[in-house]
Formats: sequence, structure tokens, C-alpha cells
Amino acid sequence: MKYVDEFRDGALAKNLAASIAREVCERSYSFMEFCGGHTHAISRYGVTDLLPPNVRMIHGPGCPVCVLPIGRVDMAIELALEHGATLCTYADTVRVPASDNLSLQKAKARGGDIRMVYSAIDALALAQQHPEKQVVFFAIGFETTTPPTAVVIKQAKALGLKNFSVLCCHVLTPSAISSILESPEVRQYGTVPLDGFIGPAHVSTVIGSRPYEFFAEEYRKPVVIAGFEPLDVMQAILMLVRQVNENRAEVENEFTRAVTRDGNLKAQNLVAEVFELRREFEWRGLGLVPYSALKIRREFADFDAELRFPLTYRAVADNKGCECGAVLRGVRRPWDCKLFGTVCTPENPVGSCMVSSEGACAAHYTYGRFKDIEVVSL
Ligand code: SF4
Repeated sequence: MKYVDEFRDGALAKNLAASIAREVCERSYSFMEFCGGHTHAISRYGVTDLLPPNVRMIHGPGCPVCVLPIGRVDMAIELALEHGATLCTYADTVRVPASDNLSLQKAKARGGDIRMVYSAIDALALAQQHPEKQVVFFAIGFETTTPPTAVVIKQAKALGLKNFSVLCCHVLTPSAISSILESPEVRQYGTVPLDGFIGPAHVSTVIGSRPYEFFAEEYRKPVVIAGFEPLDVMQAILMLVRQVNENRAEVENEFTRAVTRDGNLKAQNLVAEVFELRREFEWRGLGLVPYSALKIRREFADFDAELRFPLTYRAVADNKGCECGAVLRGVRRPWDCKLFGTVCTPENPVGSCMVSSEGACAAHYTYGRFKDIEVVSL
């Protein structure tokens, strides 16, 4: 298949659904789609409705906006409001709820110089155009967005910029998967039965499929890396069902058109040159996860906003009643939260999972919230 429409072909989807239905046994199957892109695709294209009732998809913590803890957003707001920095970040980040009923968007309304950018390079360009301003790039995201941040830090150093820095909040996918597999819900209580993972698409183009081999070998969990189109996801589910039926736990790659075993070595080397592992990092929903994020290396310390400005990280609990933490761990579903669709909507998100279209709550609100409501004719 060459064109995107072919990956959304309804007839092929029905064939795949029939294959899945034919191959499932009596048992139940629970698969976690780690990545928010898959969550979005599953909701948008109604993939769940094409699956047999004993195949359950569990949303994972792979939406970069959803896992950003309140304390980190507070730091960004502090940079803009108290230190007078021009803060640049990706669009969805500005709507993530923070402390004191604030968000970056609301901080902008209070006079903070907060800009939405499409890429890290836009933030660097702004710093070059305005040498009188301190420009900070609020860098979030998994391994997909990390290499561009590394590039701008290297460029800023090469240019000798004195007014550009990065608030680094880049996180690592394999650490999050380990945290889920080690969580009490999976290991002790069995409240989140996990039979396998749909592995991320974009992240895997960078890190390759090799890092998932550990999960297949050590935890006996199959992983199938899949693209973001509905047929990709359904093919991955069929491959996972087959692995479970055959008692196999391997890493398989459905997304061969973009992912290799070793990934993008150039990008990996670039990231290793600029960043090192943080000892621990707080994730929304997962808590403190050891060695799960990156910080800027000492050689590039001049471009580290956490060193340039007097900032301290303070952990902040989620809004009372918000179930984002449990949703991100797969323990609760969006509609289990009593705020879902009432006080919490994409226009007025109370929790982070309602912000980005990749968040489990936003995806379900946008594409699935009415499907559970019984339709009555008058
Ligand atoms: S509905 Fe809103 S508050 Fe509830 S879990 Fe989802 S994002 Fe959080």
C-alpha cells in the first residue's frame, strides 16, 4: 500500500476484523496501546467496535501532554510571569491545567509572554531576532521530539547565544513501559491484565525496535510496533492475538515502512551528545519513575533553563476528583471519571488527558462519548 487512504480502507478493515474474530479463543485479551497516536486512531476510526468483546484495548501513558506533571507546567509559568522570560512551547501544552487554576494560556492572559511554536527551531529563531529577551523553549515529549531539541541546543552553542535556554522535560518510553509492568495494578492486584503492547510508531522510528526486546524476554509480554492508521492498528492487534494464542512473547514490527531494529542512529548519537539520564522524574499518573527522563549535559549547561533561572521543582497533586492518574495507568477509563463530559471537556479541561487530541479522555469525548448512550425514538 502506498497511499494513506489505503490504510483506511473499510473493506480491508472488515477482513481484518473477521480474521481477529476467527482467531480469538475463549479467553480474554487485553492489550495496551502505549502511544496517544494509537489512542486517537482507535477512537477516531471506531476500531474498538470492530473487535470481539473479549479483546480489550487499554489506553497507555504515551501522550506527552498528558504525562506532564503540574509542577513542571508551574515552572514554565514561573519563568514567564516571575522571571520575564519569553516562553515558547508546542500548542497543546499551553492548555494543560497547572496550580492556582492557571495554565500557560491563562498566564498569557495575565501578561506572560508565552508563544506557541511549531518546532524548537522557531524558538531559537525568536531568540536570534530578540537579543533583548530571554527566550526559553519548554521542551516536552518522548524520543520523537528530543532530537530537534538537541539540534537547537547545539546550534545555540555554535552561535554563542546568550539569551536562549531550554526547560527540558523530555521523557523516555521504555522507562514508562517498565513502570507500568512493575506497577502493583499489573503485578500484584491484576486489576490491569496486560497481555501485550502495541508499540509506538514515531518513537520507534528513532529508537528502533530493539529496546522492546527486554519486555518480551523479561516480562513475557509481546510487543507489536504499529503505524497510526486504523489498518496498522488492527493488523497489530491480529499479530498480538496470534502471539498470545501461540504462547509467544516477541517483538514484531508491523510498521516496517518506517521502523528498523536499530532505529535512527544519527538521532540517537545527537541526543546522547546533548542529554544525559535524570536520576528520576515525576510523571503525571505514574509518580516518580527512575531514569525515565533526560537532562541537559554539563557541556551545554549555559542553555539549561533550570540552571540559568532560580527554579525549584515542587510536586503538586492533581485536582480533586480528577482521575487522570488512574486513566494514564490503565486502571480507569475516561468515562469512569465523574468529571468526564460535565465539568471536564476539551474546551475546559480539568485534567491533562482532556487537553490533547491524543489524550484518552479527549479522544473518547470527541469520537466515542455518545456510543454508550442508548438511543430511544419518541
Ligand atoms: S475526565 Fe478530565 S478530570 Fe477526569 S480523568 Fe479525564 S481529564 Fe482527568
